[in-house]
Amino acid sequence: MAKSCPEHGCFDVYMWPDAAQYEWFCGYTFSSISRVPQMKTVAGCPHDCGLCPSHARRITLPEIEVTWRCNLACPVCFMSDRHVPPDPSLDEIRRMVETIRNFDGPCFPLQITGGEPTIRHDLPEIIEIVGLEGASAVELNTNGLIIGEDIKYLRALKNAGLTNIYLQFDGLDPSTTKVLRGRDVFSTKLRAIENCRKEKIPVILSVTIVEGVNEMELGRIIGFAMDNLDAVHGLALQPAFVSGRFELEKRMHLSVGDVARLISDQTEGMIKATDFWPVGSSHPLCYGSTYLLQENGGFVPFTRHLKEEDYRRNFNSTSPQGAVFMDIVADSFPSKTPPPGLPILIMEYMDAWTMDLERVRECNLAVTLSDGSSIPFCVYHLTDNTGKRLYPHGGRRRHVACA
Ligand code: SF4
Repeated sequence: MAKSCPEHGCFDVYMWPDAAQYEWFCGYTFSSISRVPQMKTVAGCPHDCGLCPSHARRITLPEIEVTWRCNLACPVCFMSDRHVPPDPSLDEIRRMVETIRNFDGPCFPLQITGGEPTIRHDLPEIIEIVGLEGASAVELNTNGLIIGEDIKYLRALKNAGLTNIYLQFDGLDPSTTKVLRGRDVFSTKLRAIENCRKEKIPVILSVTIVEGVNEMELGRIIGFAMDNLDAVHGLALQPAFVSGRFELEKRMHLSVGDVARLISDQTEGMIKATDFWPVGSSHPLCYGSTYLLQENGGFVPFTRHLKEEDYRRNFNSTSPQGAVFMDIVADSFPSKTPPPGLPILIMEYMDAWTMDLERVRECNLAVTLSDGSSIPFCVYHLTDNTGKRLYPHGGRRRHVACA
């Protein structure tokens, strides 16, 4: 992408490794379902988030941050502020979820994130509130340190209504966690998965990919997930982006196309790059996904045999981004229970280098703040080269003009 700035001049940004596949992705658009706006258009995108009338898509996965504190200090974290705001109160959280229900509901899955949410002792109460306010599923984004050590706490979360865990899991080589997380916490991650297995809480492994650190582990991580399907119900692969504490320096931005190619190389063709398809509820360049269907003792990417017209016909616009192909598989079975398999989602976040306002306008993943505004994920985490944020943590910037 060629970009220019009156202050900093012109520069090029690397986009994708394969022009034909890039064009195929770009052309794969589904009609958009927009959301009732909360903000007025004043300064133009991306300064009017809330969401504003120009936003073209509804949110399929809302997030709320329940703390900005953490028990790790990962070098790759998109948190950058030294002085973080105080945790939102239970009343504030209730109001945030009410807003989500009003604008994204009535039926909505919700992810609780942070900071590290498990350092809040009242997390079970928060999960109960979220459920009572109407969330159809409650996912917890966590580094796994506390749930790996304290199964009683994990059980309390489950009893409060927790549906699944979104577990930070960067690889199978303990040195990877040391580089990306600042210390070796690999064995604790395995205990977290084990505890979830015992409590029958599905785990989605969330992998931050950094070129030169763990991009060669993707095949092994997929193998690990397939070997642990009773506990691991999905993989979310997230190339690192420049935000907060993390600076890519000379490392490469990895696109959906790059990750798809790496997977193809590392799985010896069991999964091909062309098995990854765009997700219909967002801009086509934001995600690539497939569903590995368990068949005859092996795995076959469901998309390999899917016809484009069948995808368009059977696509459910309310499916969360990670479940799009799993839901199509499930709908083709009368019991609506899909056969065992593994959804894989590649999520290509944007930063100041790669920011594309056309993509941002179609974002379906937003963080709802204490002031009730919802900010598309990549815009919310947009920082400059000093770590300064465009949107502060937690909101409280202004009152939201509700429609
Ligand atoms: S990202 Fe969406 S909500 Fe934010 S300013 Fe742009 S169009 Fe509006």
